Amino acid sequence: MLLTNNLGYPRVGPFRELKKANEAYWAKKINAEELQQVAKSIRENNWRTQKEAGIDLIPSNDFSFYDQVLDLSLTVGAIPARYNSLLDKLDSNYSLDLYFAIARGFQENGIDVTASEMTKWFDTNYHYIVPEFTKDQTFKLSSQKFLNEYNEAKALGIETKPVIIGPITFLLLGKEKEAGFDRIDLIDRLLPVYEEILGKLADAGAQYIQIDEPYLALDLSEKVKALYPEVFKKLNTAAKGAKLIATTYFEALRDNEDIAVNLPVHALHVDLVRGENQLDTLLPKVPSTLTLSLGIVEGRNIWKNDYEKSLNKIKQAVDTLGKDRVWVGTSSSLLHVPYDLDSEKKEETLPAEVKNWLAFAKQKLAEVKDLAVLAEGEVDAKTEENFEANKAAAESRRTSPLIHKPEVKNRVNNITDDDAKRTSPFAVRKALQQEKFGLPKFPTTTIGSFPQTKDVRKWRADLKKGVITQEEYDKAIAEETENVIRLQEQLDIDVLVHGEFERNDMVEYFGEQLAGYAFTQYGWVQSYGSRCVKPPIIYGDVYRPADMTVRWSSYAQSLTDRPVKGMLTGPVTILQWSFVRNDQPRSTTTYQIALAILDEVQALEKAGIKIIQIDEPAIREGLPLRKADQQEYLNWAVRAFRVSSSNVADDTQIHTHMCYSEFNDIIRDIAAMDADVITIETSRSQMELLDAFAGEFKYPNDIGPGVYDIHSPRVPSVEEMVDLLRKAKEVVPAEQLWVNPDCGLKTRAWPETKAALENMVKAAKILRAEA
Ligand code: GLN
Ligand code: ZN
Repeated sequence: MLLTNNLGYPRVGPFRELKKANEAYWAKKINAEELQQVAKSIRENNWRTQKEAGIDLIPSNDFSFYDQVLDLSLTVGAIPARYNSLLDKLDSNYSLDLYFAIARGFQENGIDVTASEMTKWFDTNYHYIVPEFTKDQTFKLSSQKFLNEYNEAKALGIETKPVIIGPITFLLLGKEKEAGFDRIDLIDRLLPVYEEILGKLADAGAQYIQIDEPYLALDLSEKVKALYPEVFKKLNTAAKGAKLIATTYFEALRDNEDIAVNLPVHALHVDLVRGENQLDTLLPKVPSTLTLSLGIVEGRNIWKNDYEKSLNKIKQAVDTLGKDRVWVGTSSSLLHVPYDLDSEKKEETLPAEVKNWLAFAKQKLAEVKDLAVLAEGEVDAKTEENFEANKAAAESRRTSPLIHKPEVKNRVNNITDDDAKRTSPFAVRKALQQEKFGLPKFPTTTIGSFPQTKDVRKWRADLKKGVITQEEYDKAIAEETENVIRLQEQLDIDVLVHGEFERNDMVEYFGEQLAGYAFTQYGWVQSYGSRCVKPPIIYGDVYRPADMTVRWSSYAQSLTDRPVKGMLTGPVTILQWSFVRNDQPRSTTTYQIALAILDEVQALEKAGIKIIQIDEPAIREGLPLRKADQQEYLNWAVRAFRVSSSNVADDTQIHTHMCYSEFNDIIRDIAAMDADVITIETSRSQMELLDAFAGEFKYPNDIGPGVYDIHSPRVPSVEEMVDLLRKAKEVVPAEQLWVNPDCGLKTRAWPETKAALENMVKAAKILRAEA
């Protein structure tokens, strides 16, 4: 009998109930018991949904108030020392409040501790709280969450499979807070806590325990490779007969296959979405004692599974291992997809035909079950019907004219090297642009957005609700834009922006205007803590039916003699922050978007916009997890950016912006983008990050290293910014430097924005005088 295995379920609640409850608790509007109640009902709901869907291995301990890695840090007692002061100061909700303090920082009753660092969970858009380790780090079992949730489900009559991040992955996810040791060497101190956890679960009656070791599918050092068998041997003994499932996801096992199949565990879970063909090499190696869990229903994207294709894979495994040693499961936790497609009712933004191609978490459970039944062979009428419907949906997706636009495909096929290259080299362009704009040394600019005040957001909401008319809305936006132009003139900024008041979000704004995009009402996915995002869905060939930004950019330009930057989002970022097609390579989709952006660039150019910024804050996060795949990605990502920005006049100045910083390993690729000006985040690192631009390889084009951090309301002094600019000047020739903040100002309020920019312009002028 093929068992069905789900790795994890979303936990924010179908309508973001947990987000709302968390935020109410933080605002002291509800108490801890009320918050616990919401959490409990989300868990119960999740378990019942999975039970009803016929899932055999239902996860528990996959719930989290904020982050599952932080849960584990607290479970093993890895609490950074700076939070110790809180232990006796917090009241009865001590553990919950400590937990949130580590996650969000705490500033009350004279206590002031900062939040822990957050970083991306592998290549997802989910962020976890980074565990911190010291040389003398000790571990101690400090929470029974894993046990409580197992027992809670049991009390509801639902047998679950507790999920716990494995010890090697846990250590690798963290970072050393001091020099002189390797965190992986803490494994011997950590393992006893894991042994305790597994023992307790076994005593409580757990039959299966999922140990998540996604690192086992990544590039590993020899040292870590050697650790895996030893560590699992100990875990297996500690589990006292409870069956362990070594669980990998987000990549194929590749060079770690031999280690993985020989772990002393009951089952190994592999990702057959990312590692589509790994069964070919894996199956011959599987020993007779091992069960293989096939991660075949995608946990990272929202497309219906293709049953015929999946059944072939399942059959391949069953032929070798037999039905008893093959499970059917999700490729990863379903944390990364929205709850339930059935909640979506808006035909205008999600047409029925498109909806029929999708599956959210709840629908994916049904797919797992269908596939197991179909592979088993004793098919009931209902499953037969589902299979037929699935085939029809797959066929409709292959052929639908909603998706397939031959003109768009042709255009991508016909991209030439010339399309991805500016006419003249940078030096020539720079001279022409200098002549045209006559900008001073250390030219000043901002990154695009100005404060999105309550008013601005209210106009947008009111327009959507029909409370105000389009004319009224446009008038308000026009006034706000004019104000911000006048302000920038007064501040004496050199290259202005229009302020982006008409935009909700830098990807959604473009998605709404591009063909090939659909939108959900409740398609929320947790990004971090209580923050959720609602990625738009790219379902079809993308093109630009009409101008997208020309109106507001040319309006802003009409108000002033200074250059106003056109403001676009780049193709890679648009791709990266959307749910993307799985029926063509990501690169093809990106090229389609690049051509649409190019059309907009040219329309702006025609409308007299001479400086155009194309933001690419997500280029780096698109990097594949395995080193061996990274260059190929960088090649097409860079080329797509060039396609979007090259077919312009030499004296049209292209800017790009990236709001992160670590460029060391990819600086040549960033340079290959060949933007005339790049603005980056550097202020928090005191310009250290600029070193990447001036190492062995000298970044050739102009650079605007951010001189102040926009994430804080703090107003930086003139001296501070002068200092930073002097530092910058030491590593990058003054002729190449621009002066700007780290990122857009939309989350800031007006008073600090004005004050900071005033100081910034003064700082630039001081540098000019020194030159
Ligand atoms: N132009 C955008 C803004 O200023 C850039 C945002 C970003 O880099 N994330 O808001
Ligand atoms: Zn930014």
